[in-house]
Amino acid sequence: MKRNKTKSVKVGNLILGGNDRVYIQSMTNTKTANVEETVKQIHRLEKAGCELVRVAVFNMQDAKVLSEIKKQIKIPLIADIHFDYKLALESIKQGVDKIRLNPGNINDIDKVKLIVDACKEKGIPIRVGVNSGSMKDDLPPTAENMILTAKYHINILESLDFRDIVLSLKATDIATMIEAYELASKTFPYPLHLGVTEAGPAFSGSIKSAIGIGLLLHKGIGNTIRVSLTDTPEVEIKAAKEILKNFNLISNYPNLISCPTCGRIQYDMTSIIKELETYLDTVNKNITIAVMGCPVNGPGEAKHADIGVAGGKDYSLIFKKGKVVDKVNNKDIFKTLKKMIEEF
Ligand code: SF4
Repeated sequence: MKRNKTKSVKVGNLILGGNDRVYIQSMTNTKTANVEETVKQIHRLEKAGCELVRVAVFNMQDAKVLSEIKKQIKIPLIADIHFDYKLALESIKQGVDKIRLNPGNINDIDKVKLIVDACKEKGIPIRVGVNSGSMKDDLPPTAENMILTAKYHINILESLDFRDIVLSLKATDIATMIEAYELASKTFPYPLHLGVTEAGPAFSGSIKSAIGIGLLLHKGIGNTIRVSLTDTPEVEIKAAKEILKNFNLISNYPNLISCPTCGRIQYDMTSIIKELETYLDTVNKNITIAVMGCPVNGPGEAKHADIGVAGGKDYSLIFKKGKVVDKVNNKDIFKTLKKMIEEF
C-alpha cells in the first residue's frame, strides 16, 4: 500500500514520516512521578510492541523524574503538556524525545518561543495536538475549524523557523476525524499521528478506532497511531497491531483466523481459540493459523493458512497450507498447534 510522503521527523531513534513505517504509540496511565510504576508499565508496553510512549506531565514532580524514566526504558519518551509552558521547558531539559502540546492551552507566543528555542537546542520535535475539545476561539469542532486551529499554531512555529512538527487532529466523531486528517494531509507537509480521541472501552473503542484509523491508513495517511481505550495500555497495543496487520503494515505479528462455527461443530472450539489467542500474544512471527469448526470444509476454506486445525468429534485434523498432515486427539490440539508454531 502506497503511503503519502511527508517530511521526516526524528523522534529518538525513530524517523516518523518519509517512509512506509507506521509506528505504534501508547500512553501510560500511572502517576508519572511514581517512577517505579511508570517504568514497569512502559516495560510491559515495550514487550507488547509499543514503539513510542507518552507520559502525562501534570505537575513539576512529573517533569522532574523524566530523565530517570528515560534512563530505564528503550523506546522514545514523549512528554504530554497541557497548560504550563514551564512543564514543557523542564521536560525538554530532562531529555525527552518529543513534546506534545495542546496548543489551545499555551497561547502566549513568547512562551511558545521559549519552548521552541529549547526544542531547537535539543533537536527534538513538537507534536501540535489539536483536539475537537480545544478549538481556537471556541470555534465549533468541524474538520475545517480543526485545520484552521492547526494552521494558526503551525504558523507560529514556522514563523519561529521551527519545522520539526508532528500533527494530530483527534476528534470523537469519526466522520470529523477522517475529514480533518484528509484535509491535513493535503494542507501540511508534516507527519500525522492518528487517533480517535476518547474512543471508549476496549470493545466499542477498538471498533471505532479501527474504522477511523483504518480508513485513513487505507488512503496512505498516517505515520503513528494510538488506539485510545479505557483499559490497560497493553490492550491499546493489541488493538493497534490488529489494525496495522490488516493493512500489511506490521511484520512479525501472527494472524489468527477462525470460522464462526455452525451446527456442524462437534468440539469445544471456543476454549481452544481463547488459549491460542493468549499464546499468540507472545509470538513474534509472520504466521497465519486457522481454526475451523469441522473437517467438511475446514482445510479447503483455510488453504492460505500456514497451520490449522479442522475439529472433529473426538479427533481433529491438523493441516499445513491446506494439506492434512496429522490427526490428533482433541485434548492435544493446542499442544500440537503450539509446537508447530514454535517450529515454524
Ligand atoms: S468450518 Fe465447519 S463448523 Fe465452521 S462454519 Fe464452516 S461448516 Fe460450520
